[in-house]
Order: sequence, then structure tokens, then C-alpha cells
Amino acid sequence: MAHYYLWTIGCQMNRADSERLAAYLDGMGYKPAASPEAADLVLLNSCVVRQSAEDRVTHQLDCLKAVKEANPKVAIGLTGCLVDSNAAELKQRFPHVDVFFGPQALGNLEEWLSTRGALPEREAPVLAVRFPTAFVPVIQGCDSFCTYCIVPFRRGREKSRPIADIACEVRELVRRGVKEVTLLGQKVDAYGHDLPEKPDLADLLTELNGIDGLVRLRFLTSHPNHMSGRIIEAVASLDKACEHINLPVQAGDDEVLKAMRRGYRVGDYRKLIDRIRSVIPGVALTTDVIVGFPGESDEQFRHTLDLVKEIRFDAVHVAAYSRRPGTWATRHLKDAVRSPIKRDRKRLVEAAQAEIAQGINTRLVGQAVEVLVEGKEKGRWQGRTRTDKLVFFSDPVDRAGQLAQVKIDRAGPWWLEGLAQR
Ligand code: SF4
Repeated sequence: MAHYYLWTIGCQMNRADSERLAAYLDGMGYKPAASPEAADLVLLNSCVVRQSAEDRVTHQLDCLKAVKEANPKVAIGLTGCLVDSNAAELKQRFPHVDVFFGPQALGNLEEWLSTRGALPEREAPVLAVRFPTAFVPVIQGCDSFCTYCIVPFRRGREKSRPIADIACEVRELVRRGVKEVTLLGQKVDAYGHDLPEKPDLADLLTELNGIDGLVRLRFLTSHPNHMSGRIIEAVASLDKACEHINLPVQAGDDEVLKAMRRGYRVGDYRKLIDRIRSVIPGVALTTDVIVGFPGESDEQFRHTLDLVKEIRFDAVHVAAYSRRPGTWATRHLKDAVRSPIKRDRKRLVEAAQAEIAQGINTRLVGQAVEVLVEGKEKGRWQGRTRTDKLVFFSDPVDRAGQLAQVKIDRAGPWWLEGLAQR
């Protein structure tokens, strides 16, 4: 029996692509292997959004040289955002890799496997279900071209899937036991503008909210310029839409936002946050921030830090700016912020956010929250609230895949802990 090993790094879109890849291979009769050494087919799903991610991919690829030397029959494939129209160049760098295929080009892997006589006789199912939660890509690509971002170059222009296709996939996922679906897109709130009927994310959420057996709906990642009143109202009124919105701000300074070509000012963002909070009671807001963008002064950074403290997000994902070859910022902005300064700024935002998140989460102590249980971690059940907070609890009863009411008795900045209610 053939085995595959699949290594994934990067965003939820990559995780969703890997779920599909795994489902495809499962359908072909492959079984998952515990390590590359135990596999017949090793696939790496790469990310190049930041230098650190690309370095980890390169390291993994280098480690696979020894695996190939020990077992020349093992097939090695590389997918994800490292693969562009650059397969020839990649083949020179990594001659031990047998096949390269882009994020939307599962067909290339299929074609390559067919030349090796390894195609399934029956059609492979496209859906993988291993948890009560699943990711469903609804719009691919990005038309925005923020000056620091490589995604539009690797994932192409925005392309939405029709509502009927998505609903069909979600119904099938629910039939297989999924209770929570996260709709994915690089700019998920831009969903639908490229389709003939021009539906929007609110229409999609409304359609999916009617699916029996589905318990929760989420969406990632939003862009402030596309977060419309209709979407906010839909989240407020649809019972399955979770009260959590990730809305990357990236910087709290107008000049930096302009250099990033984000298309909004800090004041617009503030107003949007106020509107969301006034329409969706108890909403959890999370954001992404980049520090050390070329030319970012101490004062400009201070504006970002002040905004984080003012808005009091539930979580902030902070990244130090990283040059990505091919992006506008790499080609045109030379005024690099030195690495130690970037590290300091990152630490300052993280420390401020840890304090804020600790305060927000501590307010939940003594309250009961609804948790969708995803699995066990070190003997404790683990799941998430509707507001996307990670919760651990002990219970001798099998809770896998269930909704549990958990009374919170301890809180940290990134987690909650409590007791299951009967
Ligand atoms: S909106 Fe900007 S940061 Fe987000 S994927 Fe598009 S170009 Fe990248």
C-alpha cells in the first residue's frame, strides 16, 4: 500500500488546499505516513508570504535530499505559493523534487501521477473531513496589489465560486459530520463581484445559514474596503454566523498605509470598527499588523501601537516587514528599517496586545461559553468559542465534535480554561 506525507505551512488557504490534496490522495488509495522516510510520495505545500516561511520551506526541501538519497523511489512534489511559472528554475535549485504544481493546479499532479500509472480507477472524492470544522475557499486570488504583498503575483486575480457550488460542497461536508465551516478568501468580503449576478458575501452567508445540520459559519480574511453594511448586518442577524471578524489594519499611520497602498485611512478604519461594534453585540475583532515597513519612523510606529491600544482587539497577528522579491515595495522602497528595530517594534505590539487580551479574556471568568470541540490536547478537550477563543476543559465523557457548554475558571491572553457543564 502506498503512503503519502504532506507538509504544510502558511495561511488557512494553504491548509484548505492541503485538506483537498489529502482527500484526493485518500481517494486514490494512498494512506498518510508519519514521516517522509515512511512515505512513497512526499508533498510540500509552501508559503512565501514572509522570508521566515520561505526559509522553512527551503530547509524542508534540503532535508528531503537525504530522504531521496536513501530511497530514490520516493516521489517528491512541491506546491503552494513558491511555485509560479518558475518550475524550470525550481528544478535547478531542487533537482531532487520530481513535480511542481501551483496552488490551483491539482491537475498537474494528477497528470504527473497518471504518467507513473498511479491514477485511481474511480473518481476521487474532493472533500476531506477529519474534524468538525472545515475550510471552504470561496474566492481565490487578489486584485489589490498592496505594495508589500506577493499573493496577487502567486494566486492571480480574484475569482469567485458560484453560490450553488459552494452550497453543494457545504451540504456534503455537513453530511459527513462537519458542523463549522470557514469561508476562505484572500479578500473574502470581496466575494461575488466577478460573478454574473454579482452576489456578495451577505448573500452567500444567508444561503449557507439555511443548511440543516450546519452550526457555525465563519469567514477569513476581510479587507476594510470591502466590509459592507450588508455583510455586517448579515453577521448580526444570521444565527450561524459567528461574532468574529478578522480585519487587517496593517498600520496605524496614514502615510504608511498610503505607502502600503491599502486604500483607506486610519479614520476610515476607526469608523468601520465603531460600526461593527454597534451592530454586532459581543463581536470579537482581530487584526494583522506589519511593523518596520520601509521608511516607518519611530513616530509612525507609535501611531500603530497607539491604535492597537485604542481599539483593544481580541487578537493581533504582528509581522515584521519582510522583503518579497517582485513586489512594488521591494523594487521601489529602499529605506529599510533595521532588523533589531523591527524586532523591538514587534515585541512592543505583542506585549501591549498580551495585556489587552488578558484583560478581555479575564472578563469571561465565571461565564459559560459554547465550545465546538475539535479534539484532545495533552488529555484535555480543546475547541473554540463562537468568538474564536481557544478553550481547554477536562471531561471523562467523549466530547469530540460536539458543542459543549464550558464554565470558564481561568484565562490567559491566548486561551481559556474551564469545566464542562452538564
Ligand atoms: S489585500 Fe493586499 S495583503 Fe491582502 S492578499 Fe491582497 S494584496 Fe495581499
